[in-house]
Amino acid sequence: MKTITAPYKIKGGVHPAYRKELAREQAIRTMPVPSLLRVSMAQHLGAPAKPLVKKGDTVLRGQRIGEPAGFISASVHASVSGTVKAVGPAPTASGAMAMAVDIEPDGNDTWLEQLTPQPNWSALDAKTLTGIVAEAGVAGMGGAGFPTNVKLSPPPDKPIDTLIVNGAECEPYLTADERLMRERPEQVWTGIAILRHILGAKIVRVAIEDNKPDAIRAMKKAMADAEGDVALVVLPASYPQGAEKQQIYGITGRETPSGGLPMDVGCLVENVGTCLAVQDAVVNGRPLTERVTTVTGDPVAEPGNVLNRIGTPYADLIAFCGGLRGSVAKVISGGPMMGFAQGSLDGATAKTTSGLLALAPGQAPVYESLACISCGRCVQACPMGLLPCELSQALEAEDYDLADAFHVMDCIECGCCAYVCPARRPLVQHMRTGKARIALKRREAMQKK
Ligand code: SF4
Ligand code: SF4
Repeated sequence: MKTITAPYKIKGGVHPAYRKELAREQAIRTMPVPSLLRVSMAQHLGAPAKPLVKKGDTVLRGQRIGEPAGFISASVHASVSGTVKAVGPAPTASGAMAMAVDIEPDGNDTWLEQLTPQPNWSALDAKTLTGIVAEAGVAGMGGAGFPTNVKLSPPPDKPIDTLIVNGAECEPYLTADERLMRERPEQVWTGIAILRHILGAKIVRVAIEDNKPDAIRAMKKAMADAEGDVALVVLPASYPQGAEKQQIYGITGRETPSGGLPMDVGCLVENVGTCLAVQDAVVNGRPLTERVTTVTGDPVAEPGNVLNRIGTPYADLIAFCGGLRGSVAKVISGGPMMGFAQGSLDGATAKTTSGLLALAPGQAPVYESLACISCGRCVQACPMGLLPCELSQALEAEDYDLADAFHVMDCIECGCCAYVCPARRPLVQHMRTGKARIALKRREAMQKK
């Protein structure tokens, strides 16, 4: 095992105030089970899962309550034992509606021993292990939620030679991944080793920003005896250093093609939380029913990193952290750059809920958007090499063909352009809406064929 610095510099990016000091030194606390859990069927990228239970059913923790509804989809499991109180539509963090299962805990928290623990996992083949990961409903926990078993099954003409483990956590305020690396480095490393074994990847890179020295130390120790081409890569702290395509470039110099996937350049990127979930699924036979979420921001009385059951209402999570004090301008699911502003605290945690952030009025000012002054700052900041100003104007004019030609679908919604824009243009909202419209147009065109 060696330690190296990132050999390539990513394009663009910004240096926002990181504000990680609010939660960084708070050890992970386990939250008691709330009185009701709302488990969404749309916690992953792709088709939402199909509910397998109905009102009045009793369920055990770890029982599958949603089955994958397509190739890119994932199983969903009950995060507590209890009674199903309702099955119906509920808003997800992004505001989209999806089916959810409300479970009232029975107080026993009884597990359904559905998966067999495999402590001797290295004797198993890739197909068996990938099947366990699929059964456990593991999906990318860094925010994207891509079903992990799908990533682990590349077509034969796209072999993966490099496994990159993303411990950058470049999003301001969030510290859940840092705490996992500091507190559970051995388990994280076991998850990495399982992924390496499945992929047969020759090269393993664990990427951590240089502003997390304790996490670097802990992971180095856990990886010390690793054999082969394994390295801990120290990345310069900048945003969005943890974005998939940027990380691949920064570490390998390989450029993922427009519209392409990491597998197109022989790479697979997984977040450290996902590696831990893989370890838990394989070694302990436990489906994904909990995660660590950073609950933070100046209005939060006791910011921290909370191990919570998936489906925990935001209001309960905030209450566990001492509640909110003073005025609150905004609550965001995720971080300030890529998260989703919430209209209320009625939402609930999902596999992808890395953070819940409350901002005070001065920290979330409402600006009037002005006309573009063609300063070019957004172009310099865009890590994808796009022209956010041109894209925004095309999308405002509803010229989706032009925006598509300008590669809006390559936008990773990182928010760097909006962060630097002196005219306060709602660039990310334009990109998000435009991408959704173009995706819909493409789907409609496919259906007509
Ligand atoms: S256009 Fe997209 S990728 Fe580029 S800076 Fe803006 S949000 Fe990020
Ligand atoms: S940063 Fe804002 S004002 Fe400047 S070119 Fe981009 S959109 Fe226009």
